[in-house]
Amino acid sequence: MSAKKDIVILGGGIIGLACAYYLLKAGRGVTIIEQNTLASGASHGNCGTITPSHAPPLSQPGTIGKALKWMLTPDAPFRVAPRLDADMFGWMLQFARRCNWQDYRRLARAKGPLLLRSRDLLGELVRRENLDCHYAESGTIYVHRDEAAFEAMSFMPTLLADCGIVMQRIDAQRCRAMEPTLNDSIVGGYWNPGDTRLRPDRYAAELARVVKALGAEIHEGTTIAGFRRGADNIDAVLTDHGEFAADDIVFALGAWSPKLGRQLGLRIPIQPGKGYSITYTQPTRAPRIPLSLRERSVCVSVWEGGYRLGSTMEFAGYDATLNRARIDAIKRGAAEYLIEPEGPVVTEEWFGWRPMTYDDLPIIGRAKQCKNLLLATGHSMLGVTMSAATGELVAQLVAGGDTALDAATFSPARFGL
Ligand SMILES: Cc1cc2nc3c(=O)[nH]c(=O)nc-3n(C[C@H](O)[C@H](O)[C@H](O)COP(=O)(O)OP(=O)(O)OC[C@H]3O[C@@H](n4cnc5c(N)ncnc54)[C@H](O)[C@@H]3O)c2cc1C
Repeated sequence: MSAKKDIVILGGGIIGLACAYYLLKAGRGVTIIEQNTLASGASHGNCGTITPSHAPPLSQPGTIGKALKWMLTPDAPFRVAPRLDADMFGWMLQFARRCNWQDYRRLARAKGPLLLRSRDLLGELVRRENLDCHYAESGTIYVHRDEAAFEAMSFMPTLLADCGIVMQRIDAQRCRAMEPTLNDSIVGGYWNPGDTRLRPDRYAAELARVVKALGAEIHEGTTIAGFRRGADNIDAVLTDHGEFAADDIVFALGAWSPKLGRQLGLRIPIQPGKGYSITYTQPTRAPRIPLSLRERSVCVSVWEGGYRLGSTMEFAGYDATLNRARIDAIKRGAAEYLIEPEGPVVTEEWFGWRPMTYDDLPIIGRAKQCKNLLLATGHSMLGVTMSAATGELVAQLVAGGDTALDAATFSPARFGL
């Protein structure tokens, strides 16, 4: 076993890296353990939009009806694969219980402060550390082609205003004036001036550069196999490259969290929500503003020299195949809205597992079963957006003083952890 560390972070995704940054800035010693290379999981090929506008949860009333209808449609944007899996069934039941307007509003209000703080901290972080990650205060537009779906969203600006988030309804003409790459089938949209964007793999690489310079010890290619438990803590993390003991252990394992949680006797209620992206060189007429193509649930993101279509939410366990039908559905979806939906050269086709909690809030805080274990996981569809405030909150919880956010909202205690 190596000498006892101050803090060991399990998982080198964007959440592990952000926790490392804020802990190092608070003067702590940090070691990161990652099975592959840093940010090779969900943090790699996601859409990189920083979106307080996404405060409302996935559990909107009507979602379960859609999921049932789409169960046998392999290319549907939201799909629960029919399979026998007790954990997934239990998760879906809890999710279904929250598909009502009261919980929808309550969860949006709970998530809003974390999203807003994180957006602001992330902008400061990019500026302070000169992160070269194509960050821009671009705003985003939610775009509609279907009149009824556009109208059905009209409650959203008021709901978001209640969370301190600005969203403006805009007509088709304004949509196309702001983003001339949209075709003339657009019926209207919603403009989110407070959203921003970056290129996620560059953000992770730049954060890794900074944490290394601040003294982090990084073990890539090191797989955590289990733990040695003490009476009420973890004595050591067991890996294929030896054992690591630490005063505090931060558990930032994203969608893999339930697998390793089980080894500690923790039932962490996370399901992998599989999503895909296709990255291209830029089309001649690439949007300037990231877009959410609502009826098809396709996100269009853009940065200097690059262009990405991303989408789909599939609950299919840890299925690691790149499903061509779902990739093609993203391209077809984009073609309905955009004059030039694809770039000339595909540079990457990718899938990632979002760490989905059924209440759509991340799990951040000490686990009551292990005194030296802090969970920082379950960031669902918004881990990049929530990364900076999660890192800050973890560092504040480790320090044991006041926290900038209400830590109880995200506490593992709500799941008995
Ligand atoms: C298609 C798609 C689009 C998205 N778009 C956006 C967006 O626009 N904005 C946004 O905010 N979010 C977006 N997300 C969500 C975001 O990508 C995730 O919430 C975020 O990346 C989660 O980060 P993480 O660090 O928790 O998980 P991960 O990045 O998955 O990191 C977990 C790490 O743990 C490591 N690990 C697992 N098991 C072990 C082990 N046994 N030993 C050692 N290491 C291990 C993994 O290798 C991995 O690197 C999107 C996701 C997808 C799939």
